[in-house]
Amino acid sequence: MAKMGKINRIAGPVVTAIGISPRMYDVVQVGEERLMGEVIKIVGDKTVIQVYEDTSGLSPGEEVVDTGQPLVAELGPGLLGSVYDGIQRPLPDLLREMGDFIKRGVSAPGLDHQKKWAFDPKVKKGDKVEPGQTIGIVPESKFEHRIMVPHGVTGTVEEIMEGDFTVDDVVAVVGGKDVKMMQYWPVRRARPFANKLLPDIPLITGQRILDTLFPLTKGGTGAIPGGFGTGKTVTQQQLSKWSDAEIVVYIGCGERGNEMTEVLTTFPDLEDPRTGDPLMERTVLIANTSNMPVAAREASVYTGITMAEYYRDMGFDVSLMADSTSRWAEAMREISSRLEEMPGEEGYPAYLAARLSEFYERAGRVETMAGENGSVSVVGAVSPPGGDLSEPVTQNTLRIVKVFWALDSKLRERRHFPAINWLTSYSLYVGNVDEWFRKNVAEDFPELRGWTMEVLSREAELQEIVQLVGSDALPDEQKLILEIARMIREIFLQQNAFHPIDTYSPLVRQYQVLKIIKRFNDLSMKSLEADLPVDAIIELPVRYRLSKAKYEEDVDGELEEIVKEMDKQFDELGGAA
Ligand code: ADP
Repeated sequence: MAKMGKINRIAGPVVTAIGISPRMYDVVQVGEERLMGEVIKIVGDKTVIQVYEDTSGLSPGEEVVDTGQPLVAELGPGLLGSVYDGIQRPLPDLLREMGDFIKRGVSAPGLDHQKKWAFDPKVKKGDKVEPGQTIGIVPESKFEHRIMVPHGVTGTVEEIMEGDFTVDDVVAVVGGKDVKMMQYWPVRRARPFANKLLPDIPLITGQRILDTLFPLTKGGTGAIPGGFGTGKTVTQQQLSKWSDAEIVVYIGCGERGNEMTEVLTTFPDLEDPRTGDPLMERTVLIANTSNMPVAAREASVYTGITMAEYYRDMGFDVSLMADSTSRWAEAMREISSRLEEMPGEEGYPAYLAARLSEFYERAGRVETMAGENGSVSVVGAVSPPGGDLSEPVTQNTLRIVKVFWALDSKLRERRHFPAINWLTSYSLYVGNVDEWFRKNVAEDFPELRGWTMEVLSREAELQEIVQLVGSDALPDEQKLILEIARMIREIFLQQNAFHPIDTYSPLVRQYQVLKIIKRFNDLSMKSLEADLPVDAIIELPVRYRLSKAKYEEDVDGELEEIVKEMDKQFDELGGAA
């Protein structure tokens, strides 16, 4: 097998080499500067390589070396809190050494190889162990990072250490093989698990429209498509901060020139609202600025999801955010065009759909190799040009994901936040999680959700009539429906991510608020039947009080008061008539 060859042709990030005979997806070193690249196509004696670094200055004839290894991630303690580029080079190190424009040919290890970690063994000499099983734990921020038997290693524990070690030190010998705290995993291959579990536990986010109307599950997949400025980033940051997943992997692909630098400066400042500690302590951040080569961006989602799977394998719930997958697809498109492949829709490669589904399929709630439960939930933002949802990335994503949170620029213009359209969004998990909601929140939770959706869709129908003939022409009952729908929108659906209280709404409170709106509805309808004037009902002061409750220090106490007040005001209304 020839390991050394020469550059034959250079086209942007794509280099063709001759004289090597690698396997697909082998990592190669290109040129005198040893730029890192990956084999993406082999035609006869020609090897086509996507290079993760800027190729300007390379010339034909320069050397190419096949490493014989696929692109791997280094997995071990020290991932949490790290900020990486798409091929797991620590960005702060790169930036510190080289300024804003990353120099080429720099290989920086993903993990800190000098740092010592306290390894606490969990097996004894003579124990039999299998891949995925924990042999020891290491404290990593607030977590117990489990050191697991790597895949392909099995047998009797012959040696087991205790004490402080680097990730390169041998901490155990199993079946004649050295085990270190660090393991490698080829990023393009999903990590194995024992069984896939049903998606029947919701991922609780504290965002009312998401949890109640369009729930995502632990291990579920969702997409947030939306034009520029509609709220993709705010929503994903809310999910990162609040969802009940322990670990967050955030893959950012810059929208424009400096946007990623914004994520790089804002994300490390985000606070974990539950503990007050930096959110980064339980986050791995992968950042692609737009001045980084496209191939690294293409690789970044695989690097990210591999890390997510690694923590899943320890039994954690992980949520992975990709912001935005459109930039990832554009990287694929650019590379494909350099390969002179036959373009599919809008210039995207024909394999766009396959790549998207391979990525989302790595989500899931699973029984791990060690017999525990862990999950990777994946939420991808999609930024369709001009907000046009019929474009290929959005359409192909929607065929795969089970939850669709449709951001809507019209809602944004009305300053309705989160600007998620309740008529076009959906969750295919609703049926899976009904039982969980009945058991854990309230027996009638699914019915209340159904009622809410029904009022909202009645509103949409009635609004068409109102546009034609005006609201005065509507019968009182329909006027009332419009008012109830407005209450659902303004009190329940609107939620201010930046308000200290409103930013997170526990499930029980979400239920209570809807219950109270439904009570207002029922009392109103009764009052109408008793011939009370619709205007007097609509103007009851308790409505105003209810609209302010979500900002109160003691929301739940206030809601209890409101119920009493509401009953009283309806009684008085009846008495006055
Ligand atoms: P995108 O990532 O889609 O370009 P952003 O997430 O940056 O958009 O959102 C744009 C702006 O919309 C934010 O800066 C904020 O002012 C507003 N916004 C979005 N969602 C919310 C929310 N839930 N609460 C309050 N403001 C929001």
